[in-house]
Amino acid sequence: MNISPASSPETTFPMDKLDRLLQQIAERSEQFDRSLDAEPQTLPCAIHGAGMQVLDREASRKVAKAAYTCAACVQDQRVKKRHRNLEHAEIPADVRHATLDNFLTDRPQLKREAGHQTPAAFLEAARKFAEGQKRNLFLAGTPGIGKGHLAAALARVEILKGRSVRWIECTRLFSAYHRAYQTGETEELMARYTAPALLILDELCLRELPADGEEILFNILDVRQKKALRTILLGNKSAQQTRAWMGDRITDRLRSGGVAFCYGEWQSARGSKHDGAMF
Ligand SMILES: [Zn+2]
Repeated sequence: MNISPASSPETTFPMDKLDRLLQQIAERSEQFDRSLDAEPQTLPCAIHGAGMQVLDREASRKVAKAAYTCAACVQDQRVKKRHRNLEHAEIPADVRHATLDNFLTDRPQLKREAGHQTPAAFLEAARKFAEGQKRNLFLAGTPGIGKGHLAAALARVEILKGRSVRWIECTRLFSAYHRAYQTGETEELMARYTAPALLILDELCLRELPADGEEILFNILDVRQKKALRTILLGNKSAQQTRAWMGDRITDRLRSGGVAFCYGEWQSARGSKHDGAMF
């Protein structure tokens, strides 16, 4: 095909026609703005009372008629969305009130070997994750050191930002897949774990990986990676053992997105009470 400059759209498009069109649009927009001036500027909100619904010019333009917004209703919806996200997240009850501020860093270390991190280092990694410095965070160590606490605290940070979170234990994830093979609902399941802004995969390395376990985890993490979504992984094994458990393919997928890995062993904090309202 031969495209000469004379036939390119830039040179042949009738500029005067375009100008007229733009002029018409501007005129109509001004006309619409004037028509809005004639409308009542506030209306009562059925829930929040007189004058609470304010004429929303931007929303009005979208629907081509006077539209009103009540700031208090918008705030209520935001809170409702957070509660909905919190319900859907399925955060374990024992860490539901966890925050980054009530994570205890003053705990006797059981083992201090090369590659073992301190509670303070765990908290620091979690804070960096909350700030968006790494896409994936892997917290590993002996039971009760507060991995779940930090993951729940980070889930709270996301939910407060209006984002969706989903928490799932690996064992439950695999059995859900095995059930879905029978019912043919694997796509729904895939969406369930690849849609949330933050996925928390709990109890990695706890049991032997089933034959299709690597495939299931890889597919989920691969999609999440491509969608630039974030994942927190919780396990109980060292970096080397974790890598052996999940295989090179998954490890590389996590690494390519950026992952902070922490391993630690210190005295369990289970049994101590943390209180505080979620919102
Ligand atoms: Zn209202």
